[in-house]
Amino acid sequence: MVTILRGNIFLDSIGALISGQIAWDSLGQIVAIEPLPQQSFEQIILPGFIEEHVHGIAGDDVMNQGPERFSRIAKQLAAHGVTSYLATTLTAPFPHLTRVIQETRTAAPLTRVGARLVGVHLEGPFIDRRAKGAQPLEEVAESNLGNLALLIGENHDGWVQLMTWAPNLAHTRKAIAWLTQRGVRVNLGHSLATYEEGRLAVDAGATGLTHFFNAMSPFQHREPGLVGLGFMDHRLWCELIVDGTHVRPEVVHYVMSVMGERVILVTDGMAATDMDEGVYTLGGHAVTATQGAARLADGTLAGSILTMDQALRNLVRWGVPLASIVRSLATNPARRLGLTDCGSLFVGARADVVVMDSGFHVIKTYRHGRLVYER
Ligand SMILES: [Zn+2]
Repeated sequence: MVTILRGNIFLDSIGALISGQIAWDSLGQIVAIEPLPQQSFEQIILPGFIEEHVHGIAGDDVMNQGPERFSRIAKQLAAHGVTSYLATTLTAPFPHLTRVIQETRTAAPLTRVGARLVGVHLEGPFIDRRAKGAQPLEEVAESNLGNLALLIGENHDGWVQLMTWAPNLAHTRKAIAWLTQRGVRVNLGHSLATYEEGRLAVDAGATGLTHFFNAMSPFQHREPGLVGLGFMDHRLWCELIVDGTHVRPEVVHYVMSVMGERVILVTDGMAATDMDEGVYTLGGHAVTATQGAARLADGTLAGSILTMDQALRNLVRWGVPLASIVRSLATNPARRLGLTDCGSLFVGARADVVVMDSGFHVIKTYRHGRLVYER
């Protein structure tokens, strides 16, 4: 059986929408994309969004207990157009982290609803205490190879797809080499490292920055810090949170225009996302969600309550070109994570597809050709 959808389809090859139809077979593989130039459509067809940094949503947190939470998180993410995601942890005791890694590995093949769980992003516990953000200080761990091996195992196979690492920590170069040998990509972040410390970490194999600008050494003209490194070093992917609070919209606009081909949009979303305003927890600390942001009692931002479709709408409103937005929601993260069969729409790709109305609200989400969300 072939599924056919008609609408304005985003083609990465031309960086624009074309009116046309897209078809996929019963195996969920795209078999045709054809222009229908004489017809006009309301709905917009985009590649499914890929989220490498999300902690939770709708009351659930990756760090909690209970295997059914991964089904709920997956379903709720799909309602926002996400088709693949990395379950993202926080700094916590090693037994807690290893339990979560194991649970995600068990849950992933069983969870056929919603977005696909493609691995884990360990955000901590190897971070700079001076740039902890909302991470619990008391669980920050000593950075050494023994601790890395304890946490993810000598024979790790890359299920932990990404780790955030503070490049001013001891043994940074050895740790990055150890991780990359095991298929774990490294984001620099949660760190007040110098520009030089960051550059050495990139030479050692780090390939990204965790939430660019937030919880990292700022740009100064004589000490450019990790922010300066993000601007200047083209080997780096840069995560960006575009809720309008984490980074000022004018700065987001500038970043998208000068280095959009290296931006990976993330939400850093936590349990309060899609919930009423109130008090929730992150990393064991109380977090108050109000006025579009989640904060600790001292005002520190604690993740966000942004969603990927809201990120898209914000960027459209701020005047960012659609091609740049779609690429940073789907194409760039797919390339970054080595997901070669999704992230853009082409014949032979997985049918990971989001259908939106003309106001960029999600109507339907397909994962590998199967409908996993309908408004
Ligand atoms: Zn985070």
